[in-house]
Parts: sequence; C-alpha cells; structure tokens
Amino acid sequence: MLDKKSFEKIVDLEVLFDEQLSHYTFTKVGGAADILAFPHTTSALTEVLDLARKESIPVTVLGNASNLIVRDGGIRGLVVLLEKMNAIRIAGYTIEAQAGAPLIEVSNIAQAHALTGFEFACGIPGSVGGAVFMNAGAYGGEISQVIASCKVIDQAGNLSVLTRDQLVFGYRKSSIRDNHLIVVSAKFELTSGDPRQIKNEMQKLNDLRASKQPLEYPSCGSVFKRPAGHFAGQLIQEAGAQGHRIGGVEVSQKHAGFMVNVNHGSAKDYEALIAYVIEAVEASSGITLEPEVRVIGESE
Ligand code: FAD
Repeated sequence: MLDKKSFEKIVDLEVLFDEQLSHYTFTKVGGAADILAFPHTTSALTEVLDLARKESIPVTVLGNASNLIVRDGGIRGLVVLLEKMNAIRIAGYTIEAQAGAPLIEVSNIAQAHALTGFEFACGIPGSVGGAVFMNAGAYGGEISQVIASCKVIDQAGNLSVLTRDQLVFGYRKSSIRDNHLIVVSAKFELTSGDPRQIKNEMQKLNDLRASKQPLEYPSCGSVFKRPAGHFAGQLIQEAGAQGHRIGGVEVSQKHAGFMVNVNHGSAKDYEALIAYVIEAVEASSGITLEPEVRVIGESE
C-alpha cells in the first residue's frame, strides 16, 4: 500500500489518507477514501496516475462531487479530486479551462469578456471535467453545443487532444465516459455578445433555478434522467412519492426530481429512496426511471 512517502517526489500534489468524502460531496454523504489526492497541475495528475498504475491501485476521479452518491463504506484505492486544477484562460472567443474549474466561474468569466453561449451553465455546480463527462446541460443548452476540444488522459496514461468531431455526446452521456478517459482541460468556443444582456439572462436562469430547486439543502441535483416524453419530477409526484423520507433523505417537497439530505442522511438512505421511487413510479405509470446520479464506492 502507498504511504505518505510514496507521494513525496510529486510536486504540486496534496495527499490525505483515510479522508471522509462526505466533507466534499454535495449530498454530504460518503465514507472515507483510502488516499485522497489533489493535483494542482497536469504533470502532478499524470504522475499520481502513473504511480497508481504501477502499484495496481484502483483510481476514481472526481470533479466537484455534485453528481455523486458515494457509498458509506467509502472508496478503496486512490481518489483524485481535481478542484485545485482550476485555471481559466481566454483567447479571443475561446475559453480554455482546466478540468477542476467550476462551470459557474467559467460562465462568470465569459460574461465579463462579453462572450455568449455559456449562460446555460451559470447555476450548474459541477466542474468542467464532470460536465464534459456527462454532457451537463440546462435550459436548452448543453456542453456539446459549446465544446471545441478537450485534453484527456487514457487508461495507459497517454495525453491527447480530442476535437469536437472526435467526441460523441448524448443526453447526459459522452464518449469520455464510454472510453474511460479523464478530462484534463476543455476549450469552449463562444460568440460575441452584450455583457448586460448576458448578465440579465444568467440572473433570470438563476432566479428560475432558486424558485424551483431546493438549493437550501444538500442534494445531487436531479436524481433521475428525463424519460422520453415525460418529466421525472411529475411522474414521482403522480406516484405519490413526493415528500417520502427514508432515514435522513427525503424526496424534495419543492422539486420531486431532487432528493435532499434533510437530517444526517446516509448513502444507504439515498439508495433505498432511489429504489423506492423507481418502484413507485413503475407501479403508477409503467415507466422505469433511470438514475442520472452516479452511485460509487463500497457499502458499509
Ligand atoms: P462529479 O460529481 O465530481 O463526478 C460525476 C462523474 O463525472 C463521476 O463519475 C466522475 O468520475 C466523473 N468525472 C468528474 N470529473 C471528471 C474528469 N475530469 N474526467 C473524467 N471524469 C470525470 N447537472 C446538469 O446537467 N444540469 C443541471 O441543471 C444541474 N443542476 C444541478 C443542481 C444542483 C443543486 C446539483 C447539486 C447538481 C446539479 N447538476 C446538474 C449535477 C452536476 O452539477 C453536474 O452533473 C456536473 O456536471 C457534475 O460535475 P462534477 O464536477 O460535480 O462531477
């Protein structure tokens, strides 16, 4: 097993051992990571991945941990959190952002530079890498519409750049996910706009979000994908599951598509509530909801 000394040679890397992931996840649930690493640079990231590969240690990469339920037994091996790789650069109409840069920050910078096209992401609390991985989107916009290219690391540790035509996106999925790639950075191609209009649009979207979503509680956003021709929240309401609580986790009273951690809930509560809702919706409508959120790690 790797210890503190094993990582000393890698510069620009912070490492914690047996660290509770509930401190980092938006749901506030999740057991400990054996090793939690925070690379500040691409070379620190590649070096720590090389080390794990050499030692045959499993690796889990996280962005902002906003679309995850980490189970209560935590994650074995190495967890890499990319939040410190967060540089954002502007060149003309292009924004290049490292994987750990918050989408909210990217949209603020785009607005400040009179660039339009990224407004849809102004309230999505994920990182650039996590957003590319799952083709995040809202209010008619999604990552696939603005991405020009992204830099990735494959399972063998090779770095390469994939252009837009080499990437495949679908509803909340991408070829990054299918090919087990790690996003290091992404370039977004935007167009010229009026900063005041962009700001107004962002304000409008954020007001809408705050009025509809239970942002005052820990959650992972929409738990389920939108089934074709339906809305998950509406199906859950019609199934009578809104407000249902298991342990400390509840189907939000404000938005039935969200599950909120209202009272020291656990990942076990989340998983049980997800199973309950899927069953209730199946029974009432015949439709099987598919989780959008990723459930990872080990049960206690
Ligand atoms: P994480 O949760 O850290 O990871 C999610 C998955 O992506 C994991 O499997 C992880 O391994 C993988 N991953 C993360 N970074 C990388 C990387 N660099 N390379 C490869 N794989 C990586 N989503 C929407 O699409 N639209 C919304 O409107 C929306 N609203 C939300 C509102 C709230 C209140 C919350 C809590 C969440 C919301 N989300 C929404 C979900 C979430 O913010 C997005 O899915 C976001 O893109 C996830 O990014 P992340 O960095 O948090 O990913």
